[in-house]
Amino acid sequence: MIEQRIRHDWTVDEAMALFEQPLNDLLFAAQSIHREYHAPNAVQISTLLSIKTGGCPEDCKYCPQSIHYDTGLDTHNLLPVEDVVKAAERAHAAGATRFCMGAAWRSPTNSQTRRVCELVRAVKDLEMETCVTLGMLTEDQAQALAEAGLDYYNHNLDTSPDYYGEVITTRTYQDRLDTLAHVRDAGMKVCCGGIVGMGESRRDRAGLLVQLAGLPEHPESVPINNLVQAEGTPMHGSEALPPLETVRCIAVARILMPRSVIRLSAGRTDLSEEAQALCFLAGAGSIFCGDRLLTTPNPSFESDMAMFGQLGIAPQAP
Ligand code: SF4
Repeated sequence: MIEQRIRHDWTVDEAMALFEQPLNDLLFAAQSIHREYHAPNAVQISTLLSIKTGGCPEDCKYCPQSIHYDTGLDTHNLLPVEDVVKAAERAHAAGATRFCMGAAWRSPTNSQTRRVCELVRAVKDLEMETCVTLGMLTEDQAQALAEAGLDYYNHNLDTSPDYYGEVITTRTYQDRLDTLAHVRDAGMKVCCGGIVGMGESRRDRAGLLVQLAGLPEHPESVPINNLVQAEGTPMHGSEALPPLETVRCIAVARILMPRSVIRLSAGRTDLSEEAQALCFLAGAGSIFCGDRLLTTPNPSFESDMAMFGQLGIAPQAP
């Protein structure tokens, strides 16, 4: 009965029907499924570090790290191992169980991949889970990262296939699916989600979730990001998504992919604690903690712990 819920053939119409349910019905269904697969009052904490910032040749219209937009970002090359280890140690001491490292590349060279493998080994030595996001990977690069012990590779689909052309033109949807397949074939876990609030329609949000649920295996981790509007990017000034639409999006993701951990990811600074509480009720089971994401702000660790205290949520043990 429960396993019948693990489906890969959801349609956009079915996902739309879930989105359009009364909110109480949607939340009840999502929370009921959440409790069958996940601890109801525990949230996993990841911390994110930009290990190489800016100068990316891609044209993602939301991203301050693209060379196509003048965003005044402080850029830097790949950080040395010692700096990354210090940041990981701080994150570990604060309660993070996974350390995520992001580099603004279209795709890494083999020598850059080798350097990232060193970082992965160094962070693994701290007994933390590791995740990296480096852009598109070849089969061999995915294999090298897996051999270094990398747990998760993040590569988002961003949005629905229909809206994709409004977001990025320098790589195709299929390029993304190919990288995800290389990551799976190398035996790593997949972190893959998208961004909402980029001017897309509800049907596009449903389309994104259906694409994720239609992957040969559901991603273990599904980050749902709210657009953080960065000055200088084409998407700066987009109409903000109502918080309850984010809640609905998380609930539908939870129903479509019951085993996946849904991460309430970027954009929490624009959500009240009450809205975040509804996201946890809808099935979010992970957040990023720490004052910064790759380049954008995030609530402070202290305020997140105070929110957890009010909600009776415990950070998930490693
Ligand atoms: S989202 Fe990633 S790939 Fe796109 S411009 Fe930013 S750093 Fe480059």
